[in-house]
Amino acid sequence: MGVPKRRTSKARKNQRRAMIKIASPAIVSCPRCHEPKMAHRVCQACGYYREQEVLEK
Ligand SMILES: [Zn+2]
Repeated sequence: MGVPKRRTSKARKNQRRAMIKIASPAIVSCPRCHEPKMAHRVCQACGYYREQEVLEK
């Protein structure tokens, strides 16, 4: 069984975890109105998802 040869230092542990928080919020700009929106969600500003689906009015 693989066992770590040496203890992971605080600096190396924190460097690894610092990258997790950067990657987590998936915010993209809407292709239609260019407002920032959550990826894979309907745009709250124009109500569009995948070019032409109107999902609120
Ligand atoms: Zn939009």
